[in-house]
Amino acid sequence: MKILTDRIVTARKSHVCFLCCEIIEAGRRYRIATFADAGRAWSTKEHLGCAEIMQSMDYDSDMGYGEGKLLEQLAEYTDDDIDTLVTDVDEQQRLIALRNSIMEG
Ligand SMILES: [Zn+2]
Repeated sequence: MKILTDRIVTARKSHVCFLCCEIIEAGRRYRIATFADAGRAWSTKEHLGCAEIMQSMDYDSDMGYGEGKLLEQLAEYTDDDIDTLVTDVDEQQRLIALRNSIMEG
């Protein structure tokens, strides 16, 4: 698999985050990465905070990269962990709220 592009852009319209499946609102900055493999190309869009959390994880790529993994791991993260890992304050608050909603089950 080859990474064609990996950059941070501003959303002109809303998108669905590949990692948490929540909306990335228009006007927010997000990460877009484009991949190619075996003649096929696809891209993923991620909240910056979701991308930062995912990068902090010690995950095995064979286990997959995506929604299930992020949400499963997020439940283990404390407010302090999220504050430390995530740069953007709005993203910190969103992820803490998301973690709380997971914990409430
Ligand atoms: Zn997300």
